[in-house]
Amino acid sequence: MTAPTPQATPQAPRKHLLLVGAGHAHLHVLQMLAQHRPAHLEVTLLTPDAWQTYSGMVPGYVAGRYALDACRIALQPLLRAAGVTWIQGLCTGIDAAQSQVTLQPTDSSQKTPQTLRYDLLSLDTGAVFDPLRLAADMPGALEHTLPVRPIDDFIDRWQTMVEQRQPGRTPHHQQPPQTAHTPTANATTTTWAFIGAGAASVELLMAAHERLCAAPQAAGSSGSASRIQLVLITGGGEVAAGYAPGIQRRVLRQLAQRQVQVVRQRCVGAQPGALRLEDGSLLACDGAVLAVGTHAPRWLQGSGLALVDTGHLQVNPFQQSTSHANVFAAGDVATRADAAHPKSGVYAVRAGPPLAHNLLAAASGHPLKPHHPPTRTLNLLSCGTRHAILSWGALHAEGAWAWWLKDRIDRAFVARYASEA
Ligand SMILES: Cc1cc2nc3c(=O)[nH]c(=O)nc-3n(C[C@H](O)[C@H](O)[C@H](O)COP(=O)(O)OP(=O)(O)OC[C@H]3O[C@@H](n4cnc5c(N)ncnc54)[C@H](O)[C@@H]3O)c2cc1C
Repeated sequence: MTAPTPQATPQAPRKHLLLVGAGHAHLHVLQMLAQHRPAHLEVTLLTPDAWQTYSGMVPGYVAGRYALDACRIALQPLLRAAGVTWIQGLCTGIDAAQSQVTLQPTDSSQKTPQTLRYDLLSLDTGAVFDPLRLAADMPGALEHTLPVRPIDDFIDRWQTMVEQRQPGRTPHHQQPPQTAHTPTANATTTTWAFIGAGAASVELLMAAHERLCAAPQAAGSSGSASRIQLVLITGGGEVAAGYAPGIQRRVLRQLAQRQVQVVRQRCVGAQPGALRLEDGSLLACDGAVLAVGTHAPRWLQGSGLALVDTGHLQVNPFQQSTSHANVFAAGDVATRADAAHPKSGVYAVRAGPPLAHNLLAAASGHPLKPHHPPTRTLNLLSCGTRHAILSWGALHAEGAWAWWLKDRIDRAFVARYASEA
């Protein structure tokens, strides 16, 4: 692979900016480059797909409300407008001392790993499930559950799982026989388990409820048809932990309305047709979605870049690596050394404009500006596609209007990058 070769000019030394990942903040960087790209700056985007899936709309896709195209931003028009070269691949390593990235191409024509040099590097690759950590914490999970990351793999496999689901299992705990969460299903029940009790898991569960229970064979619509039982496995903590207690109560009410079984235990393993819980019992299920907390990418280790103890890239108020001044990062891959905040799409979006400013400033030798992440953000947790719970700090409310608002905000986000490309 030929990396863009910066050529010296009498006016300004040419520089190569390498953007890795097309996450929320990098979409803004691309849009800004489309409006103004300094002549001396050569820019490459390394990312595996020709689109960026907007995770906020994925529950709506799962519920059957959105077509897949509605949840995706096509990158080619943005890249053309910004004069940015696309390399289709995954970053697999960084050598910060050599200012060099290793990549694995993901297009079918190329197989061998490549290296790419940079003058400036910016990372917005999101969160991942680390397969080694998953294998240690939950043996069998990679083989027998459907992880929500990478999100495009989840989307592909979700559809297949729904089509292939086999009604007729009874959810039950084989040991010990008396548990606090005795199943209520009968012999024609199809059981889906959602592992994790954060916002993504809860939203996906309620979206799945809407989709699966609307299916003709569900909910006893034909008299003899199967019923759907959904189970939420919290990991031992409370549902929607991290939210104010009043919001948790709202979420629990929504789950109760859908007769969701809440199991306050850790899932410690998976096998064909069942999940193993920490008390030794087995929960039989026809499908299991894995939406537990995510990890930092393993390829950051050994990069020479300063990392926080969770393995995420440590950045300063300029979204700049605390160890290497020519490396920047935003979104779930990074952690602010001065003011760590929750990892969410909202924060990744807010980091876009300051990151774009600082990349251009660094390329031109201008001063950087600090980014001040908001202390509170507007959160909209969808409960299917007719209802949502809104929260702003400790304030909260819910209703169809909140879902309407979420739908407008999400569609506007996708449209912004489609219309300005
Ligand atoms: C189902 C679901 C719903 C969610 N809903 C919301 C919500 O409503 N609001 C909210 O605030 N948060 C939500 N989140 C959380 C949100 O998805 C993340 O916090 C957010 O996506 C992080 O954004 P990011 O910019 O860091 O990366 P991402 O949006 O994850 O983008 C990462 C990009 O990097 C690319 N990439 C990944 N690895 C590599 C690599 N090795 N090399 C090159 N490119 C790579 C990916 O292909 C992608 O283009 C949701 C999460 C899920 C799973």
